[in-house]
Amino acid sequence: MDFEAPYSLTVGGQARTGSDELAVVNPATGRVFATCPAAGAAELDAAVAAARAAFPAWRALSFEARAAFVARLAGAIRDNVEPLARLLTQEQGKPLLQAREEVGRAGTLSIGMTQIRIEPEVLVDDAQRHIELHYVPLGVVGVITPWNAPINLAVGPMTSALYTGNCIVLKPSPFTPLCTLRIGELMRDIFPPGVVNVLAGGDELGALMSAHPGIDKISFTGSVATGKKVMASASGSLKRVTLELGGNDAAIVLEDVDVADVAKKIFFAATVNSGQVCMAIKRVYVHEKIYDAFCTALAAEARNAKLGSGLDTSTVLGPIQNQRQYERVRGFIDDIRKGPGRILAGAEQPSGEGYFVAPLVVAEPGESSRIVVEEQFGPVIPVMKFQDVDDALTRANDTRYGLSGSVWGKDVARATGIAAQLEVGTAWVNQHRATLANVPFGGAKESGLGRTYSIIGLRGNMEARVVSVLKS
Ligand code: NAD
Repeated sequence: MDFEAPYSLTVGGQARTGSDELAVVNPATGRVFATCPAAGAAELDAAVAAARAAFPAWRALSFEARAAFVARLAGAIRDNVEPLARLLTQEQGKPLLQAREEVGRAGTLSIGMTQIRIEPEVLVDDAQRHIELHYVPLGVVGVITPWNAPINLAVGPMTSALYTGNCIVLKPSPFTPLCTLRIGELMRDIFPPGVVNVLAGGDELGALMSAHPGIDKISFTGSVATGKKVMASASGSLKRVTLELGGNDAAIVLEDVDVADVAKKIFFAATVNSGQVCMAIKRVYVHEKIYDAFCTALAAEARNAKLGSGLDTSTVLGPIQNQRQYERVRGFIDDIRKGPGRILAGAEQPSGEGYFVAPLVVAEPGESSRIVVEEQFGPVIPVMKFQDVDDALTRANDTRYGLSGSVWGKDVARATGIAAQLEVGTAWVNQHRATLANVPFGGAKESGLGRTYSIIGLRGNMEARVVSVLKS
């Protein structure tokens, strides 16, 4: 069952139209399939005013009471998995199975976060003093999300802010506004008016949010370049920021692995959502002893993966989400063709309607080639050879990104020792792209600032307040 239009903004618990409109393209066809309202400065001011008015009563509730609201939201999402997943596939492109997983994860992660307790800590208790550390909500949190996982990347930061006592103004990417607006509509029946406000809008609305004096924090997920702009503009009011930015994750494959098994897993982690995942594997370093066999196995996976509309249940890879990103990924492929690398799969690319890119595997494209240095955010996998693990680590760490990375090997203790030397926020062993509600996730270096999920992520929405009592 599909949702029916129209879509509306949510401001102060009410449906609201916008001062403008967004046309939403289905990337499997390249054609507009829906429109929705877009907010400007007036709607933003109204949303911020509604959030500020709702804040005192929301802040006064207990964690348990706020967790109950989040649980009702998770229930509403669960009740709407199918229409939300179908809408997600139509606006974002990912295969229906992955869309269902994204919707499911949004509910599970938000419930998981509300099981974390935040209690005052006693720092000193002696004859003279009793000193406690409390955590209090910041106020109004602006949540800005990208187009690759619009449900998951909205619900995670949003429920983290709400559970800790903040009110929110949420803005999705102009490429994928529809599921977020629908979730806003579901939340209208659950949360007190003003606690949750949802505005669709373009990049300029994001810029207005990061400069708005009535917003106390921006929780931003998106590219490094935009993250830097958000941080610069937030500095005007010393807004707090959490930045979840891009990555260029390396996987290091040691000589003792089961080649066929690991090639399958690495192919999935590199091409899920057509590679449009912040923590997708974006570079693969393989020991020389197994290099040829691994390349052959990875290329076979690429050739066997079925490309098509995400609504077709046999599809493994959907389209690239938008024309700008499609042209960028095709640009990487053009550069690869001009370089020294050997294309092992994906030399033939589809033409015709939709933003489809067939998975491409390239051997030894050159360590300074764009496909190794930049974040491709598409199903194009560079595979490089190494002899010595220290050299593989140096190459894996030779990047301004530091989101995550992985090491694959049968000798788990050895692989763990190597993984711990990756300069990243998360180093995985024999897995990639695994996150949990009570485990912090975020980037080192230019991949971000702060963490999402876990008690660290929750405290990122709070101010530390010391209460210091002189006893005598
Ligand atoms: P983007 O930076 O272009 O846009 C992200 C959001 O920021 C959109 O809502 C956009 O409208 C808004 N925006 C644009 N300009 C703005 C400005 N000046 N001020 C405030 N907001 C502004 O990113 P994208 O292309 O939508 O997403 C892809 C990027 O997101 C990739 O680099 C990917 O790695 C990254 N990402 C990171 C994570 C993570 O958790 N670390 C997760 C998903 C995606």
